[in-house]
Amino acid sequence: MLRKVLPTSSAVKVARKCVFRNASTAAPIRPRICIVGAGPAGFYTAQYILKHLDNSDIDIVEKLPVPFGLVRFGVAPDHPEVKNVINTFTKTAENPRVRFLGNLCLGKDFTLEELRERYHAVLLTYGAEQDNTLNIPNENLQNVLSAREFVAWYNGLPGFENLNPDLSGKSLTLLGQGNVAVDVARIVLSSVDDLKKTDITEYALETLSRSRIDTVHLVGRRGPLQAAFTIKELREMLKLSSCTTRWRGDDFDHVEESIPNLPRPRKRITELMVKSLAEQAPNNVPPAGRCFQPIFFRSPVNFVGSGKVEAVEYVVNRLADGRAVPTEQRETIATDLVCRSIGYRAVSVDNHINFDARKGCVNNAGGRVLKRNLTGSDQTIDDIEDKYEAGLYASGWLATGPTGVILTTMNNSFGVADLVCRDFNSNTIRLNGSRPGLELAGRPYVSWNGWKAIDSEEVRLGQAQGKPREKLTRIETMLQIASNASD
Ligand SMILES: Cc1cc2nc3c(=O)[nH]c(=O)nc-3n(C[C@H](O)[C@H](O)[C@H](O)COP(=O)(O)OP(=O)(O)OC[C@H]3O[C@@H](n4cnc5c(N)ncnc54)[C@H](O)[C@@H]3O)c2cc1C
Repeated sequence: MLRKVLPTSSAVKVARKCVFRNASTAAPIRPRICIVGAGPAGFYTAQYILKHLDNSDIDIVEKLPVPFGLVRFGVAPDHPEVKNVINTFTKTAENPRVRFLGNLCLGKDFTLEELRERYHAVLLTYGAEQDNTLNIPNENLQNVLSAREFVAWYNGLPGFENLNPDLSGKSLTLLGQGNVAVDVARIVLSSVDDLKKTDITEYALETLSRSRIDTVHLVGRRGPLQAAFTIKELREMLKLSSCTTRWRGDDFDHVEESIPNLPRPRKRITELMVKSLAEQAPNNVPPAGRCFQPIFFRSPVNFVGSGKVEAVEYVVNRLADGRAVPTEQRETIATDLVCRSIGYRAVSVDNHINFDARKGCVNNAGGRVLKRNLTGSDQTIDDIEDKYEAGLYASGWLATGPTGVILTTMNNSFGVADLVCRDFNSNTIRLNGSRPGLELAGRPYVSWNGWKAIDSEEVRLGQAQGKPREKLTRIETMLQIASNASD
């Protein structure tokens, strides 16, 4: 899979050998590159450029004092193996040609214009931090949250520590059936004793230990054959201790007979669902312990309640060519708490970014940011200079939209980084003078050593509680600790 995005070996050799000279002094000019956002996209583009453009220097600028984006603040705490990518990112950050500059925010502390003046190339990799809304009546009722907020809360993203989700009711409804929704379901339905061994925040553990939620509905627009969760996540739910998965038999009409014709991954997950349905106890036997209930063919049309949400009203869908089509039928299901989990959304943080607000991503073609009047579908202009913003790129969720996993982000980022190397090599990015990098005077940034001091403190706090780390959630505390670190 990787080979596809790697440049030809000859292109790499030329890129590596390329020595740029300043005409007046004959001193070599080192390409200076700025990457905005220290998530997977930022680190993977940096890793690739370091390897394939030997004489380049890279600044990774991050709005938070801490790196790693959604690997730290999105990936579920009970999936520590997914976070092993942090070891690779750390190696990249510790390369002497890289500087991590935390606590500096594009659109607040500096502008895109400033970056483009001070670097030969700028890569926007600042992710997708907002969530989509349903835009249905009563969405602002109390206890209607987004999965994004809920995840940010249990993972300790600064600003979400006071979310205090109300877990005093009996049932939680997750609208959406992707892996993020399943993560939330699993965290809520897991035993606190299991979560105690993870890096989940202490305040979330405390709230979860008082939770009275015993049923989680996972609601999707379409049927079991279109379910968005993956088999690994489903297996985890089926194996969860003290929790029963309960399917609704009607959702599975004609599913079993279509299994032989399904492509392999879809076939395996469908077989697992059908097997689990066949093994489930009859409806009149109440499930032992907590209950996880996937519900298919339902789209929310209204939140019911006065002040606080009490139920969700759904339209019943049928499938037409794989698409959900509403019928006249409605169903209302009681609930005490709702989390929308219908996708993340990027935003424009600077007016000079050519941004597609409808799609929620930067207008780009393969990672090169298009000129302001062009969109991704404008492919008619041949002249590269008329088409693209010179030296401006985007990768990761900001460029592709919020889809896929870390591996998808890695492949995209390696591909964009390859374009950057080729554009330097072909002189598309002109090295007409050295660039100074971001002006740091008067800007209280966090260096990599500052992050390491924060990291050590978190690990120390965690050890005291038998956890891998206890995340700090107050920016001021982080800055205080980082400021004592030597550079
Ligand atoms: C809840 C959740 C769970 C997930 N779990 C998994 C999983 O288990 N396995 C898996 O493979 N994938 C998982 N993913 C997907 C994975 O997290 C993404 O593929 C990946 O993080 C996208 O990387 P990114 O760098 O584009 O964005 P991000 O990870 O969001 O990184 C963007 C970075 O930019 C910074 N930033 C934002 N605005 C600015 C600004 N104005 N200036 C400077 N910096 C800024 C952010 O603070 C952040 O550090 C999960 C995603 C979510 C949402």
